[in-house]
Amino acid sequence: MPGLIRIKPHHFVDIVTAFGAGRKHFEPHPHGHAVHTVAAMVAADPDVLLEMDFGADDICEPCAHNIGGFCDDTIDTSFRPDAPASKREWNLLIDGRWASRLGLEEGDRLTAREFCVRLRDTAGDITDIYREIPAEHTAARAANLAKGALALLEPKGRQ
Ligand code: SF4
Repeated sequence: MPGLIRIKPHHFVDIVTAFGAGRKHFEPHPHGHAVHTVAAMVAADPDVLLEMDFGADDICEPCAHNIGGFCDDTIDTSFRPDAPASKREWNLLIDGRWASRLGLEEGDRLTAREFCVRLRDTAGDITDIYREIPAEHTAARAANLAKGALALLEPKGRQ
């Protein structure tokens, strides 16, 4: 469907968080993933339709770490020793928590704006979602996420 973005919940959360930190443009990443193009679509139209996808979403699709639909990357566990080293396993953990918090299931469709309404109304204390990460690391993320969600909910979206 034209304009439909298949996206992991935490990938959308990360884009909104970056917006809240004042980031307006994303450069192409060396891994080749599509964060920059998806972020541009969201910034251009907060009413763009999202489909929740916990697997290889539209951001993963062109990524060098997307091997047959499975992420083969690893994460830095030096500051989160209780987290799984596999990025795929870590993502599934975080996406499951975000989905539970926001009342979402894989395959659900909602606009970026509607996702931001859920973030505004039900995100609450997100240190529990990132419980393997020291809370002080999550504080700035939480503030920027709230700011980014409110910015996308402005009548004309981000300017
Ligand atoms: S989750 Fe893995 S495959 Fe998807 S964009 Fe990130 S590194 Fe690439």
